Amino acid sequence: MTKEILKCFNCNVYTLKDLCPKCSNKTTSPKPAKFSLEDKTGVWRREYKRRYPK
Ligand SMILES: [Zn+2]
Repeated sequence: MTKEILKCFNCNVYTLKDLCPKCSNKTTSPKPAKFSLEDKTGVWRREYKRRYPK
């Protein structure tokens, strides 16, 4: 059972299929993108701190 969520980076659509239901592009696992997402969160946290210092 390896039902992994996949993502089409072409139209930003999440699916469980190998091919995007919209554009038939090959979907890929969005997992590596998590790193950049965490990075973004870090940037946000810094920005938040800058705007609302204690
Ligand atoms: Zn697509």
